[in-house]
Amino acid sequence: LRHLVIVLGDQLDHDSSAFDDFDPDQDAVWMAEVAGESEHVWSTKQRTAVFLASMRHFAAELTDAERPLHYAKLDGRSTKHSLADQLAADVTKLKPEGLVVTEPGEWRVREALREVAEHSGIPLDIREDRHFFSTVAEFAAHSEGRTSLRMEYFYREMRKKHDVLMTTRGQPVGGSWNYDADNRKAFPKQGPGLVPPRARFDPDETTREVIALVEARFADHPGSLDSFAWSVTRAQALEALDLFIEERLPGFGETQDAMWPGEPWLWHAHLSSSMNLKMLNPREVVAAAEAAYRDKKAPLPAVEGFIRQILGWREYVRGIYWTQMPGYLERNAFEAFEPLPDFYWTGDTAMACLQDAIGTTLENGYAHHIQRLMVTGLYAMLLGVDPKEVHAWYLAVYVDAVEWAELPNTLGMSQYADGGLMGSKPYAATGKYIDRMSPYCKTCPFDPAKRVGDDACPFTTLYWDYLIRHEEPLAANHRMSLQVKNVSRLDDDEITGIRERADALRRGDIAVPHT
Ligand code: FAD
Ligand code: SF4
Repeated sequence: LRHLVIVLGDQLDHDSSAFDDFDPDQDAVWMAEVAGESEHVWSTKQRTAVFLASMRHFAAELTDAERPLHYAKLDGRSTKHSLADQLAADVTKLKPEGLVVTEPGEWRVREALREVAEHSGIPLDIREDRHFFSTVAEFAAHSEGRTSLRMEYFYREMRKKHDVLMTTRGQPVGGSWNYDADNRKAFPKQGPGLVPPRARFDPDETTREVIALVEARFADHPGSLDSFAWSVTRAQALEALDLFIEERLPGFGETQDAMWPGEPWLWHAHLSSSMNLKMLNPREVVAAAEAAYRDKKAPLPAVEGFIRQILGWREYVRGIYWTQMPGYLERNAFEAFEPLPDFYWTGDTAMACLQDAIGTTLENGYAHHIQRLMVTGLYAMLLGVDPKEVHAWYLAVYVDAVEWAELPNTLGMSQYADGGLMGSKPYAATGKYIDRMSPYCKTCPFDPAKRVGDDACPFTTLYWDYLIRHEEPLAANHRMSLQVKNVSRLDDDEITGIRERADALRRGDIAVPHT
């Protein structure tokens, strides 16, 4: 055997660089389902099922294409617990001259592969991941000499370089780079109206086998598989993309940040797991969205807003991850050490917004960006939860969770644990923000306008407690100074009341008021 070509669970692309010189007469593909990848964080059943079902479908395609394959199944008799142990065992058995892999998406996995190669005394060829628009080297060049890294500048460079939504004269289409100001509306009182149904793919035999396996092997893991309908093949991902462009993209912009109880899908794309598992290429997604604008099928603010998420945010967080790791994982700028509340794993809380956001997360392996950032993320930050615990939760629960995307979003954007490398200020807000963007507060026993008292909204209490606890560093941030100034208007009794209630929230002994 010449090369053993490693294909990880999030590298399901037949055209990836690892296959560049693939010769079926001399090379073979290696894939492995190992329990360790579902257990190093307590992966939800939906997340594990998306990965395993997609891997098995990809393996079948490899076999159809007559590419020799060594595939270790989770329920195989001799399958090891970790990727590294499985690879080491197979290297001993198959004796390849070398290992080939496309750049893994996680630092831990890259290091583990390197160790196996070193131990076995064979070379490991780590190849560039062409899936992304930018390279890590490009991002490193962009960030050189900058103390903070703002997405907006990077995004503009990407727009120009890849000629996306640009005029022939090199100007942004419509005259503006960013239409975010148009994209922050709440839904009208009567609700979001008729939301197009999500793209559903009923589990075929392979997926049903995976579902049964996950139910049996990870019975005590969080979440349920009843609603499982994610795309697990490239063909399905392309179908989901077409449906999104047709039915959702035109409505994507305006209410992108809005939330509605019991409506998890709204006008979002639900394409992140397919892109992150590399079944869908971001270039085809961006091109399809731009074509919809040029064909007058979707308005510019919606299309620009959507493209920014992919060409901007998605590329940018990957750049942050690879230029900041491994130290990034250790950052904890505000020295937050509280444990994550247990209800994050059950949804069992009286707070209506958290109940709904965690509920859809466990049921579907999905919640949209604002639910992640301004509900679950915000509460953890205000409570003072250890960023590592928050990270372990986000990496475990979503079908799109891969560390290069998850860690900067969690630690940098949502928790401000990098002290401002990614964001210019913490996303700190009271319950009034949630009240503005959703009707949750109307059915909640708490009152978003109150910071103390039995029915005070926990977000609002904790927001003030957060400002009090971190007054000094926040006052030095000019984007926070106005917010912090309000602390000086509180009298001692108010401060004591806020702090006592915040401590009680941390202990979890707040009684639910009667509505
Ligand atoms: P849409 O809202 O329709 O957006 C379109 C696409 O843009 C997404 O599919 C995604 O590929 C990309 N995108 C949007 N926002 C971001 C962002 N901030 N960073 C990177 N890509 C983005 N995204 C992940 O892919 N994996 C994660 O593990 C992940 N963890 C997150 C953790 C936290 C705390 C937060 C606040 C956000 C996280 N995100 C993550 C970003 C974002 O919430 C999801 O990409 C998005 O909700 C996926 O749903 P969608 O496909 O319907 O996205
Ligand atoms: Fe959430 Fe507070 Fe509103 Fe209740 S009152 S839904 S806890 S923001």
